[in-house]
Parts: sequence; structure tokens; C-alpha cells
Amino acid sequence: MIVIMKHHATTQEIAAVVQHIEALGFKAHLSQGEERSIIGVIGDERPVEPEHFELLAGVERAVRILHPFKLASRDFHPEDSIVKINGISIGTSKVIVMAGPCSVESREQVMETAAAVKQAGGHILRGGAFKPRTSPYAFQGLGLKGLELLREAREEFDLPIITEVMSPQEVTLVAQYADILQIGARNMQNFALLHAIGEIQKPVMLKRGMMSTVEELLMAAEYVLSHGNSRVMLCERGIRTFETSTRNTFDINAIPVLKSLTHLPVIADPSHGTGKWELVTPIARAAVAAGADGVIVEVHCDPEHAMSDGAQSLKPDKFAAMMSSIRRVAEAVDRTV
Ligand code: PEP
Ligand code: MN
Repeated sequence: MIVIMKHHATTQEIAAVVQHIEALGFKAHLSQGEERSIIGVIGDERPVEPEHFELLAGVERAVRILHPFKLASRDFHPEDSIVKINGISIGTSKVIVMAGPCSVESREQVMETAAAVKQAGGHILRGGAFKPRTSPYAFQGLGLKGLELLREAREEFDLPIITEVMSPQEVTLVAQYADILQIGARNMQNFALLHAIGEIQKPVMLKRGMMSTVEELLMAAEYVLSHGNSRVMLCERGIRTFETSTRNTFDINAIPVLKSLTHLPVIADPSHGTGKWELVTPIARAAVAAGADGVIVEVHCDPEHAMSDGAQSLKPDKFAAMMSSIRRVAEAVDRTV
């Protein structure tokens, strides 16, 4: 249930409603919008009628949220949430581009790629140090060494870092290096991990599981939000369908569907969403047109020899071409890159 306060409700009235909710044994989650404040009643509030709250001073109305996700829902937070990272705002009319290699492989590789990303106007550097690979015999990432290389590139090129964390035990370590923690598709429902990242104050990008519905993705976000971390972004990265001509099927519908259901920023990953570098730019363009708040793409200077995901990685010149291409699409829908 959410309690919507009147336009001119006073801070005392808001505090009294919060107190009242807590006295009933619920958690109160206050969201102060530009227009008005909304207070989420968190817990099993089925026995309480909305009218109960409507008697309190300063309350306009109380409504049940019919979705199973509450804090992630647009009903609870009607305005877009903006996630701020070192001066970069995600969730505005400006499309944010995260780019870099699938895996961090060496100092030369990460530096060369970061230079290309910066040069073409990318905003955030991606790179995996802990890699979730389907095969235990495939390259598993450089681990701590990879994080250190990312830090070097971050300082050298003034690019915030997004990198994956795979287990609750590694959250503290990875959070010391990352500006955004990535939760991979294979871990979207790793509830111990969701709990751990919910307890720290660090932006998180949750990737949609390859066999997960939009609602399951939002429920995963709800775990993180309900543990206290409000800086959550969602990522559509393609799902598994009967189609075999691409690695995954990029669910373009998910972008406007998510934008209508939730206030959280939505990022598109056309690299994993297609598996083929030739398809990355067209799908990035489609995602920007469909309303994505950002795009995350894989870039590699020598994709033929990449340790992972070479087939879907753009060379620097192709990445620069993608940037100018999505700039034009963004302009057509009254946005910028
Ligand atoms: C990645 O970003 O390199 C990655 C492993 O992505 P996903 O979890 O979407 O497969
Ligand atoms: Mn990858």
C-alpha cells in the first residue's frame, strides 16, 4: 500500500504518518517527490484498509499497489529515479553509454580500449574481472588483478567503472574498485547476492536473467531496494527463445514495458542481446528510440583474439560509428547522448 500525502503536507504530518505505520508493525518507506511525498507501507498490509490511513492529517489518499513489486513500482515513485555516479546522471534525457571489453585481459588491452571509449564519447568503462562462464574450462577473468587494471584505467581516463560481482563474499572487495556493481544474468535470482548488494550504498545494474520475465527482474530489484539500496538500474540483455539465428533475442518490448512499470533507469545491452557485432548498432539504435536510459556495449581492439565474447565486440572505429549513429536517433526522439 502507498499513502499519498497532500501537496502541502507538513513535515510534522509526514513524520506522524510514518510513526503511525511503524506502530502498526510495518516498515515505512518515504519517497519525497517534487510534487508530493509518498509513503510506502511495507509488509503484509492486507488486513488494513486504505481508509484507515486516509483519516490521518495531511493524507490525500491511500491505495494498494497491485503489483508484487512495491518499491520498484512507478505507483510508489511516479518520477524517474536518477542514479548519479561521479557527476554522470543516469535516468535523464541524456543517454549514457557504458563500453569496454567483455573481460579485462591485460594492461595494454584495457588501456587501449578505455582510450577508444573515451575518445568516441563513452561515459562509463565496462570490463569483467570475475567472469561467469558457461564452461569451467573457459577464461574465468583476472580477478583482483583485473580490478586493479580497471582502477588504473579509471584514473587515467576519468571514466567510472562498471564490473561484475558474482558472490556475496566478494561484494566488499569489488565495491572498493567499482563505481557500479553489475549483477550478471546468471545471478539475477541469487538472493544471497541481492541481499548483500542491498546492504551497501553503491549503484547496482541488475541484468535480466536469460529465462526471466520482466516481473521476475522487478522482483529481483525489489530485493535490493527493500534491503536499503535505492540506486538500482535494470538491464535488458536478451532472453532465450526458440530462435537460433542470434545468441539471444533482444526483447525490445521490455524497454517501454519496464519504463511504464518502474521508475528505475533501464539500460540496453545489444552485445549480449544479439551475440553478433554487426547487429549491435541497429539494436542500440532501436533501444534508444524505445526509451532506454543507457546502452552497454562490448568493445575490443582485437576481437578475433578476445578471451571472451569477441564475436559480439565492436572494434573502436565501429564503436565510434555507433556513437554518432545513436546520437542522431536520440535527437529524433528529443534526447541527447
Ligand atoms: C557480461 O556483461 O559480460 C556478461 C557476462 O553478461 P550477462 O550476465 O548478461 O551474460
Ligand atoms: Mn560478455
